[in-house]
Amino acid sequence: MDPNKKPVKVGLLGLGTVGGGVVNVLKRNAEDITRRAGRAIEVVHAAARRLDAPRICSTDDILLTTNPMEVVENPDVEVVVELMGGMRPAGDLIRRALELGKPVVTANKALIALEGGELFELAQSHDTLVAFEAAVAGGIPIIKAMREGLAANRIEWLAGIINGTGNFILTAMRDEGRDFEDVLAEAQALGYAEADPTFDVEGIDAAHKLTILAAIAFGMPLKFDEVYTEGISSLQQEDVAYAEELGYSIKHLGIARRREEGVELRVHPTLIPSRRLIANVDGVKNAVLVWGDAVGPTLYYGAGAGAEPTASAVVADLVDVVRTLTADPTHRVPHLAVVPDQLTDLPVLPIDQVKTAYYLRLQAYDQPGVLADITRILAEAGISIEAMIQKEAGEDESYLPIIILTHQVVESAMNQAIEAIEALGTVRSPITRIRVESLAG
Ligand code: NAP
Repeated sequence: MDPNKKPVKVGLLGLGTVGGGVVNVLKRNAEDITRRAGRAIEVVHAAARRLDAPRICSTDDILLTTNPMEVVENPDVEVVVELMGGMRPAGDLIRRALELGKPVVTANKALIALEGGELFELAQSHDTLVAFEAAVAGGIPIIKAMREGLAANRIEWLAGIINGTGNFILTAMRDEGRDFEDVLAEAQALGYAEADPTFDVEGIDAAHKLTILAAIAFGMPLKFDEVYTEGISSLQQEDVAYAEELGYSIKHLGIARRREEGVELRVHPTLIPSRRLIANVDGVKNAVLVWGDAVGPTLYYGAGAGAEPTASAVVADLVDVVRTLTADPTHRVPHLAVVPDQLTDLPVLPIDQVKTAYYLRLQAYDQPGVLADITRILAEAGISIEAMIQKEAGEDESYLPIIILTHQVVESAMNQAIEAIEALGTVRSPITRIRVESLAG
């Protein structure tokens, strides 16, 4: 390494949880990071809303401002790291940095999922790049693993627990037998869930991340608007318990699967066999299971959030950026894994064309012939039953809970069968339906 090489000067937009973590990690591991990057990396200028707020990092050697554009346009700043979050002004700041030819590192999943395509084009036209490892699964280097480590494979599908808040809630519902609302309140008190938990529990945050993962896995454009998204807020405690009885865990999964007709992109509560490693990813942890034709299944596990885990991903991107500062831009790793003119515009399948197995919970009137009617309707729809359990009715209950696990079927056929069963008059509406994935090859 040339000891005379000057440190790379970084401008930081945001000094909150992740921004503070980045400053601390860069300082603590400065020696190792310099050896890896070939040059020292220094944060010289940073923006926050409040200059006098307490910080988790020291800002002694950093010029501070409340105007993030000042950081972007500072001629000394060579690389911009965006850790403010939100669409605006973050998007405008990144665009300006790219127009100035400055590489950008960001953890902003919403911005990449919604506007990444445009940002990547802008980066390419200015011979620079946007790095976004921290945008998916926090500290887990899943983007690098898929884009580079799995480059030999045709990726057939991936499934991820990519929202820690949702997984924390589901884990407590299973292990402690508690209801959704009750655990959500605890998650909010512990700081795992925002005051407005919509993004996490309704699957929007997971859909942002799935959009990015699928684009890289299949070399297709980012299609956030076409992700089918279903949250966990209506999940009932009894379904969690019945699933366990059948040998399954319910996880809020983001699933991307390649089919001949197109790709499935979906986020929803999913029953998965409890014996799978990914079924045992508990609490706020994240995991992504990727199936490549050459390697088979590979599983990536770790912290999906937090100051230093997320900083780990941001700083790894910074090291990559520093390495590429001198490299020919056409030889860099492409943003979405394939060279830009090779992106394939795969159609995303509507949810009623998705193929999956199902868990059904019905409340059937306790009289002869009801079960026969239900199984006949399923058989006529071409749906075969893998397992069925019938529960005892309570003392003065005339309805019996029936749990059915089916084999795989196209969702439109299942919708029709459910409609027919609900029309019987002997089964209470609505029937609870949760999709099931075996996650086997
Ligand atoms: P945060 O703690 O709220 O920090 C945001 C920072 O940006 C704060 O320092 C804030 O200033 C500053 N800021 C916001 N708007 C600004 C403006 N208009 N001008 C100047 N400064 C502004 O957020 P975070 O948790 O670090 O998240 C940052 C990004 O990382 C987000 O995109 C998030 O989705 C992503 N991410 C976070 C995690 C995680 O574990 N937290 C994990 C993965 C990805 P003040 O401090 O003065 O308010």
